[in-house]
Amino acid sequence: MAFQLPTTLSPSKVSSFKDCALAFRFSAIDQLPEEPSIAATRGTLVHLALEHLFDREPQDRGIAEAIADLGRALEELREDPDFSGLELDEEAEATFVAEADRLVRRYFEIEDPSQVHPVGLELKLEARVDDIRIRGIIDRLELNADGGLVVTDYKTGKSPHTSHQQGRLGGVTFYALLCQELFGVLPAQVQLIYLGDGLTITTEPTEQAIRALKAKLRALWQAISLACEKEDFRPRPGPLCNWCSFRAYCPAQGGDLSLVDAYVAERTAAAS
Ligand code: SF4
Repeated sequence: MAFQLPTTLSPSKVSSFKDCALAFRFSAIDQLPEEPSIAATRGTLVHLALEHLFDREPQDRGIAEAIADLGRALEELREDPDFSGLELDEEAEATFVAEADRLVRRYFEIEDPSQVHPVGLELKLEARVDDIRIRGIIDRLELNADGGLVVTDYKTGKSPHTSHQQGRLGGVTFYALLCQELFGVLPAQVQLIYLGDGLTITTEPTEQAIRALKAKLRALWQAISLACEKEDFRPRPGPLCNWCSFRAYCPAQGGDLSLVDAYVAERTAAAS
């Protein structure tokens, strides 16, 4: 019996498979639940606040409005299991909000939002490369002064060392590929805005970069298909294990792989 292939590829699935094939299997194929994390939920909160900010007219995109949007985003997030699952006490919630507030204020040190011309916010895009369904969410798609498309991705952490920057831009080239496939236009620029330290990394995607990315996606899909066929997803222990939600299932961390089958069987029974 082979594992069922995941239905789509996204930038996070691509990096998950490269980082640790077993963690990819747990997440994309077995769909095991993942523990909410403070960093990821704070990222969701800040993204939502900036989305609200860009829903405003350009002249209304000031710091006071952004902080009000952060408060609104927090209220919207309260019922989300990723927030409620954190079980923050009063003091921890105050720290969580203060950190999000700092990130939103830093955004204003990077660019003037009144000068940005968004044409799409939190855009969910899906396209095909051969028989591979690819999808991703673009934080912000805008027009530059020449009418070219610019893809912006917010990061709430700090910018990577220069030696890792090309790897991070690979994820954003994925969004450029989605734009080209769906709108027939290659974006003029893609940029990563790091709110953690106020730096921006930009690149101008080329046809060559898109071709290279397509070739990588085909090779990756082939590797995933083979791993599914052979039911062979190997653990790759490393620093990421410290944040991995699947340690209880992972043999490399003394976990019990048979718990996965038990979880999947229980979920299937509950759904039928
Ligand atoms: S604990 Fe480490 S090796 Fe195991 S699945 Fe997670 S990332 Fe992979």
